[in-house]
Amino acid sequence: MLAERLALDGGTPVREEWLPFHRPRIEDDEIAEVVDTLRGGWLTTGPRCKRFEREVAAYTGAKHALALNSATAAMHLALEVIGLQAGDEVIVPTYTFAATGEVVLYFGARPVLVDVDPRTLNVDPTAVEAAITERTRAIISVDIGGVPCDYDRLLELAHGRGLVLIDDAAHALPSRYRGRLLGSVADLTAFSFYATKTLTTGEGGMLLTNDDRYDERAQVMSLHGISKDAWKRYTSEGSWYYEIVAPGFKYNMTDVAAALGLRQLTKQERFRAERAAIAARYDAAFASWPEIQVPSVPDDVETSWHLYIPRLNLGRLSADRARVIKALAAENVGTSVHFIPLHLHPWYRERYGYQPAAFPNALAQYERAVSLPIFPGMTDRDVEDVIAAVAKVVAHYRA
Ligand SMILES: *Cc1c(COP(=O)(O)O)cnc(C)c1O
Repeated sequence: MLAERLALDGGTPVREEWLPFHRPRIEDDEIAEVVDTLRGGWLTTGPRCKRFEREVAAYTGAKHALALNSATAAMHLALEVIGLQAGDEVIVPTYTFAATGEVVLYFGARPVLVDVDPRTLNVDPTAVEAAITERTRAIISVDIGGVPCDYDRLLELAHGRGLVLIDDAAHALPSRYRGRLLGSVADLTAFSFYATKTLTTGEGGMLLTNDDRYDERAQVMSLHGISKDAWKRYTSEGSWYYEIVAPGFKYNMTDVAAALGLRQLTKQERFRAERAAIAARYDAAFASWPEIQVPSVPDDVETSWHLYIPRLNLGRLSADRARVIKALAAENVGTSVHFIPLHLHPWYRERYGYQPAAFPNALAQYERAVSLPIFPGMTDRDVEDVIAAVAKVVAHYRA
């Protein structure tokens, strides 16, 4: 490799223009569908939301799908419909985004953090088993980067102990566990349609389940606790009549968002193939370098490739991860870190007294993780530039 000076030290960057970590892929038909929605005059929850729900359910094989304004809302409702109470416990992997833990805290319940598998960054079923107590009500799995968790073991554990398994599948559309798309593998599944996710509606999410009662309760609670059954029962009163059956939330999706979602949904396999091709090129470039460990994907699953998270072999480098990220940014390559484990954050540390070493796998992987750009619409040149920038930075800091 060239002994070029890093851009960080005044050298010439690998690329002239900034490559963002992510850029949403919005095509002309998404724009046309949104314009049609605006012209049609029905802006909030309506026919497009209903169609989007039906199509996501049909695509993933789930019986019910409820369009919402975020995955956080979907997970909050998942815990509401199972009747989570203050003082209950929910097992949550520490290696995740803020939302996975906070929804448990909304109830005055405790998120019991557990460690992850160092290869996949997914929740370790053995750690889950060890964390189960008589207060445990549910387990939340997170498919990091889109790699499905070990669902055979998690389902056996959950159902064997009378617990509910909730999948935080914010990264996992479309991901397959033993040939099955995630969406109905766990008891309840939450998808995110946030701006950076594989399918975006700007902000949005969906709750999927095969259970009729969970779905019915989630529908009611997603819109002010207003019962639709009351409308059916009291039709003689007219369409203005409604009944509040519980203090619900305001979590519904808009038809403007669903317009984006409907078009994005038709492209999921193509987008995934584009990301998989990028991942294959990264793997081919990095696999033989001792400084980098490429992501591992178990044989019996298919990842959405929402994220590509190689790990730095820090013993082979004279720089830490923060320095490497700064150097890549100076080469005009945007990166990110997924995730800062929950137990390292002040609230969790102070509330529960977690030490950094409490979850050694999560801590060690977090310190080595760098997420590289992987999104449909990246050009061959963009991918080459990322590889060249990583090569240059690694060569410079080779120990
Ligand atoms: C993005 C994300 C969420 C939250 O999704 P929203 O739709 O923004 O609420 C939850 N969990 C994980 C792992 C995420 O990455």
